[in-house]
Amino acid sequence: MIIMEKGKLKIAFYWAASCGGCEIAVLDIDEKILDVVAIADIVFWPVAMDIKYKDVEAFPDKYIDVCFFNGAIRTEEQEYMAKLLRKKSKVLVAFGSCAQLGGIPGLANVANKKEVFERAYLQSPSTNNPDSVTPKTSFKVPEGELKLPEFFDTVKTLDQTVDVDYYLPGCPPASDQVAKAVEAIAKNELPPKGSVLAAAKSVCDECPRKKEDKKISKIYRVYEITPDPERCLLEQGIICMGPATRGGCGAQCISANMPCTGCGGPCPNEVEQGAAMISALSSILGVGGEKDPEYDAEKLIAQIKDPLGTFYKYSLPASLLKRRIMKE
Ligand code: SF4
Repeated sequence: MIIMEKGKLKIAFYWAASCGGCEIAVLDIDEKILDVVAIADIVFWPVAMDIKYKDVEAFPDKYIDVCFFNGAIRTEEQEYMAKLLRKKSKVLVAFGSCAQLGGIPGLANVANKKEVFERAYLQSPSTNNPDSVTPKTSFKVPEGELKLPEFFDTVKTLDQTVDVDYYLPGCPPASDQVAKAVEAIAKNELPPKGSVLAAAKSVCDECPRKKEDKKISKIYRVYEITPDPERCLLEQGIICMGPATRGGCGAQCISANMPCTGCGGPCPNEVEQGAAMISALSSILGVGGEKDPEYDAEKLIAQIKDPLGTFYKYSLPASLLKRRIMKE
């Protein structure tokens, strides 16, 4: 339970390994931001306020009522801040797909630090790096020593690093879900610890498209066809993660004629989002063989480009797979 002191909540926002979209989602609650300001003081928000880490270190433990932490943990600095903010906060919310599941940065778990650096700093077509310089944790300059945080081999979720109280899914979380979460916090109406603050249903459950239980004979990437806006995208051969993804987003991508890519994370009571989607997909793939050559499941599966990036786009670190096995 959150006890509000002097009538106002103290809230904090932090941005770790993520793109910054979650910070924008906070502002996307539009005029509701005024309701937030009416009930809360923002005591830490590096993207919007000039405040130093030493100021947070000086806060008494549990000084912050609620900390919204977005981004995965991929560096020493992010790990330090996760531990510090956990200590200083009564309630810690994993905000967005990256904090909850590892997110798109988590796809880097197919590589290790050396491979990531080689690709980013040496091999990418847009890189001009004749001296093959890659980041080091310390570098001497005439003025002294510059330090950078260690870059880990493995991207972790927030709850693989510290204890997390709640999860607000999405890439980024839908603004009405953010507003509802803030309201629940302000009214002390939060569900049990560990809950996901989103609807307990799948994206398919809230999708208005017609489903006809049709088998598919070809898999398309989104740019290859203009789908019928009334019919289920999956039944038109576009991989839509709706059956395996928690809803609450209002199926916004689907209303823009784009498939769900899975940012809401696994459905309630599911752990393994990617496996759940593969299982859902198997029900609309034909058996193939001589009787059913048009619907050959193996051929169809081979048409899926980048299966890992399709089925585990946001959830690789949180999945049972977690990362590629490292031999060294
Ligand atoms: Fe809608 Fe996608 Fe589910 Fe089809 S698979 S019903 S398009 S959310």
